[in-house]
Amino acid sequence: METAEIRRRWLTFFQEKGHTVVPSAPLPFDDPNLLFVAAGMVPFAPYFVGQETPRWSRATSVQKCVRTPDLEEVGKTSRHGTFFQMNGNFSFGDYFKEGAIAYAWELLTTPQPSGGYGIDPDQLWASVYEDDDEARGLWLELTDIPAERIVKRGRRDNYWHMGIPGPGGPSSEIFIDRGPAYGPDGGPAVDEDRFMEVWNLVFMQYELSAVRSKEDFDVRGPLPARNIDTGLGLERLASVLQGVDNLYEIDEVFPVLQQAAEMTGKTYGDNPSHVASQSHPDDVRLRVVADHVRTSLMLIGDGVSPGNEGRGYVLRRMLRRAVRSMRLLGFDEPSLPHLLPVSMERMSRSYPELRTDFARISQIAYAEEEAFRRTLASGTTILDAAVSRVKAGHSGESDGAVGSTGAAGVSSETLSGAQAFALHDTYGFPIDLTLEMAAEQGVVVDEPGFRRLMAEQRDRAKADARSKKSAHGDTGVYRRVADSLGRDVEFTGYDEVVSEGRVAGIIRDGANVDVAATGDDIELVLDRTPFYAEGGGQLADGGRVELANGAVLEIRDVQRPITGLVVHRATVVLGEVTTGDLANAEVDVERRRSISRAHTATHMVHKAIREALGETATQAGSENAPGRFRFDFTAQHAVPPSVLGDVEAKVNALLLDDLPVQAEVMTQQQARDLGAMALFGEKYGDAVRVVSVGDWAKELCGGTHAQRSGQLGLVKLLGEASIGSGVRRVEALVGADAYSFLAREHAIIGQLSEVLKARPEELPERVSGILSRLRDAEREIAAASREKALGGATGLVDSARDLGGLTFVSHDAGALAADDLRSLVLDVRTRLGNDGASVVAMAGVANGRPVVIVATNAAARGVGVRAGDLVRSAARTLGGGGGGKDDLAQGGGTDPAKVSEALGAVEDVLRQLQG
Ligand code: ATP
Ligand code: MG
Repeated sequence: METAEIRRRWLTFFQEKGHTVVPSAPLPFDDPNLLFVAAGMVPFAPYFVGQETPRWSRATSVQKCVRTPDLEEVGKTSRHGTFFQMNGNFSFGDYFKEGAIAYAWELLTTPQPSGGYGIDPDQLWASVYEDDDEARGLWLELTDIPAERIVKRGRRDNYWHMGIPGPGGPSSEIFIDRGPAYGPDGGPAVDEDRFMEVWNLVFMQYELSAVRSKEDFDVRGPLPARNIDTGLGLERLASVLQGVDNLYEIDEVFPVLQQAAEMTGKTYGDNPSHVASQSHPDDVRLRVVADHVRTSLMLIGDGVSPGNEGRGYVLRRMLRRAVRSMRLLGFDEPSLPHLLPVSMERMSRSYPELRTDFARISQIAYAEEEAFRRTLASGTTILDAAVSRVKAGHSGESDGAVGSTGAAGVSSETLSGAQAFALHDTYGFPIDLTLEMAAEQGVVVDEPGFRRLMAEQRDRAKADARSKKSAHGDTGVYRRVADSLGRDVEFTGYDEVVSEGRVAGIIRDGANVDVAATGDDIELVLDRTPFYAEGGGQLADGGRVELANGAVLEIRDVQRPITGLVVHRATVVLGEVTTGDLANAEVDVERRRSISRAHTATHMVHKAIREALGETATQAGSENAPGRFRFDFTAQHAVPPSVLGDVEAKVNALLLDDLPVQAEVMTQQQARDLGAMALFGEKYGDAVRVVSVGDWAKELCGGTHAQRSGQLGLVKLLGEASIGSGVRRVEALVGADAYSFLAREHAIIGQLSEVLKARPEELPERVSGILSRLRDAEREIAAASREKALGGATGLVDSARDLGGLTFVSHDAGALAADDLRSLVLDVRTRLGNDGASVVAMAGVANGRPVVIVATNAAARGVGVRAGDLVRSAARTLGGGGGGKDDLAQGGGTDPAKVSEALGAVEDVLRQLQG
């Protein structure tokens, strides 16, 4: 049965049982604390924790999931993908254990011709939480599973909660026995690959008061409304129903694996074992390729771009691992153009938008592969240099963990952790690659040292992120305020800049407090506020809050640390603040207006760029600040200045048209019908806010805006540049800031034309005239000094020495370009003629690096003297390498102080040859 069919049957089955079909939420969910959606229940979490009221009592979905912790398992077990789909059925205070178990049994065992999955009941096992006799009784009563195939397990396996106080409860898992070929008998406790978990039923029935770890928590009591959350792994079931060994061989994944095998000339499955953990490493790599290509496709499809942190980094890592695995399998050319379309063909059966959006998706993926290939090329050179330095005995590092004299236990030559880290950090060279390539050259890498530096960097990054986004890593303080408020903070800022509210919470030094006094830095929560919290690319409002008792607070920053809560970072300038106080919150209107103008300008530039470059130029980030903004978008090439000029002209023309800017709340479908931009990333089903500039730019946006385009006054684009593979950035000024910028440029032009005695329009020509005269002069000087060096050729011929019948010229030319050095060597060789054997060796320093060049004449070659051999021994002395033909060869190194020693090495070799 095809995966798409399994999915269809799932939705039909539960729809017929009264469940509303809810579309999958995008993988990058709107909760900034989550990397990706990792389970079907994630989009429903606000209903389970009681933050929102569900619109239905029963729902079902097939949710796209990405689990990065499972990355290392890929290919090595039969059942872990980084991307997979979780089929779920959910009950919100409706049916409970009995319903969930009965539905699961019915769907799994109903024969295929009757619409079910037709699993043989004898293959099914179930687990229940050790204390959950109710569930065990229901399995016995409602299904044919005998008592010996219902196993009891503890909290680690069969208890669910969210890691925070809130709902929790026992779970019950369903396993399929795949038979003796897949492992030993004895049930899931013995072998999880043979007894594969396919479906997990969670019974949310308790309220947990404290959660210290997965297994250590306190139960406060029963929940008023009990819920069901289940998850079935679509790919796992597909592997069973398609009779294949693992989820990399199902219809949605295998074609990519086959394609990769064909490209690399490998035969997949040479090892006939069903057990994935015993597979040949090549098979594992092929599975990694197939898995990662698919995950990358789905992530880019949902709007993720490769980057150096967070979601973008996960995507980058997937793409790189796929490319790298292909290289290890022997395929060195760009591989994604052969693989990604195959994955798209398969996945678009369930996700047709992948096909329509494929131009954009593939552009991003291919550009990332190209960038990685460049990294590999340059990183390899740098790694080789570092390795040869280590081998030559000096590592150039001084952290103690380096060189052949390194720490105890380091027997041979060791590349330091700092060097490996630099390769990673500066050149994006992955550690596994460093390890492997160093090993090929017999060099060990101080991996613990590398890991230590990585951990330090991660800690620094985390501390930074924390101090920016929420003053405290622990969100508990915010949840307590949100709980006591009992509803979302009301944002009044779309309509007013001054609002009355009440102090709903105060946080000081990471703790909830009731009172704060003059001089305190606090986080203040009001039940309603006109302050815009940083979000959607728009910076936070500033301003002040005055209390009815006369106290005054200065607002420095505004954030939204958890959904529904707005927190003002404030300093108490005067008086005392107490929870419950009446407050008058006043936004700094100048700052707000200026930011709003920038935000409107961003929308207009976004729209104009899309008109100019096509729909693939989608927004990849933005920042709207007072008087300026930056806007990032996907594009593979630089935007030509003329196009940028057109964009700017178009936007400014529309400012003069003074278009009205309007915001409207509507359903997603209505927004889509209107052609609003940027639809991914929104939570399904929710109402969305669409901001329109005239009838022209329509975009989903929660930000604040100017009222008419005329208020923007002037928009000046400052330029455009790349900020990473496939993403470009435009920076611009708006309003008075744009005017000041132009006025300043005007003044500079004025000064220049005075100095250069030219009218402004003559300046470019005047300056390029001066520059070209300067270049000519420099060329003349260089030619003169070269002539002087080359003129020395006659003198060099005179300096020739006789080494046992061979004429030898050796010369240290000092600072001279390699090309000139070569001409000099060849000139001297010509002058020496071809009557007897002669060799010319010269060394010099070009751009601070030593160069050595050796030439032999025909007679010398006739007696077996080869320039390449001579250069290699010289280059070794210089701490580098080199090579070339028998008649002419060039080498170099790192140590300019050893130039004469290198020439001596050439002479030594010649003497040995002659002697
Ligand atoms: P396992 O112990 O096998 O890793 P799990 O306990 O992590 O599974 P759950 O969190 O209960 O799994 O997820 C519910 C269902 O989702 C599982 O029963 C399984 O069918 C599926 N699933 C979980 N992780 C993956 C994965 N990495 N790839 C494919 N399917 C998965
Ligand atoms: Mg797991």
